[in-house]
Amino acid sequence: MNPRRKFLHTLAGASLSMPLINKIKFNITNPIITKDGSVPIILCSRGESWGRKTLTPAWTKYQVSKSILDAIEAGANVTELDPEDMSVGYGGLPNENGVVQLDASVMYGPTHNCGSVAGLENIKTPCSVARLVMERTDHMMLQGAGALQFAKDHGFVEENLLTEQSRLRWLRWKENLSDQDDRFPPRDGQYKPRKRPTGTINVLGIDENGNIAGITTTSGLFGKIPGRVGDSPIIGAGLYVDNEVGAAGATGRGEEVIRTCGSFLVVEKMRDGMHPQEACEYACKRIIQINGGKEKVDFNDKFVAVNKKGEVGCASIIGNENQKPNLAYWNKEGFHVYAGTYQIEVDRN
Ligand code: ASP
Repeated sequence: MNPRRKFLHTLAGASLSMPLINKIKFNITNPIITKDGSVPIILCSRGESWGRKTLTPAWTKYQVSKSILDAIEAGANVTELDPEDMSVGYGGLPNENGVVQLDASVMYGPTHNCGSVAGLENIKTPCSVARLVMERTDHMMLQGAGALQFAKDHGFVEENLLTEQSRLRWLRWKENLSDQDDRFPPRDGQYKPRKRPTGTINVLGIDENGNIAGITTTSGLFGKIPGRVGDSPIIGAGLYVDNEVGAAGATGRGEEVIRTCGSFLVVEKMRDGMHPQEACEYACKRIIQINGGKEKVDFNDKFVAVNKKGEVGCASIIGNENQKPNLAYWNKEGFHVYAGTYQIEVDRN
């Protein structure tokens, strides 16, 4: 076994209480409780409704298993398996050809190890496949047919991910793309072309020993060119975790998050001493800046973050007083919704 492989293999198989991990993991600190934050904590990049749906099973799983990875995976799986969520997993909106291609990533602080899948077809729970890439391979990212084969090797069953609801939305989108092709939308006038919907979910968690983990999972940009990979499976873009500092995740236009290394930027700003709220705002401002200012921005991105103390932050580029970007979290005091900030006020109602 080559040395790196042996190292990762040992970490994947080791229990956290083993001396090896304590030696490698510098300092697993005691839980830190402050006025504004506490651990354990599990949060997601959604508000009240999806927050409760996702985080309640995640929190229950954590109470039973004490594994923060198991807990956030259970939470992310809820969204992936729910056909009503049209931006993640089963029922996600498809690419240009009507094919659902999923992206997901996972990162685990104590080992600083990670795994991801890109353009995965026919598997409802891509974050679970990403976790297997992390734990059962010497690689960090699998894509397309190779990712699917890997999932099948591990017993995942191929299923059709395109629900009737998503197929109809895709068909209307295609029919409205151009007035120069041979497709017509139905004359019922029900479909109004509008900005492409965005989605994705980030689920981040810290256990009672201060160990941090994160997941990002999505069906990506609706109508994307087949093979397009977004930010979600790219470590440092759609997700980043550092066990000494905290975790961050992104949703929204992935291209911008990739070219700013968005989640890495948020975590590094927290390392420099910024509160998670300030760090999320910093990343949004950076994106606006590299696009040439507020008037040039016609897309949205949103960051969520948590620091080692369990303090949270959330900011988006676009918002308004009625639609502030938010996140939801569970900690020992119960379920909370946290309203973040936005940089550019728009009328989205
Ligand atoms: N960030 C995702 C992507 O670009 C999409 C989204 O969050 O809506 O693939």
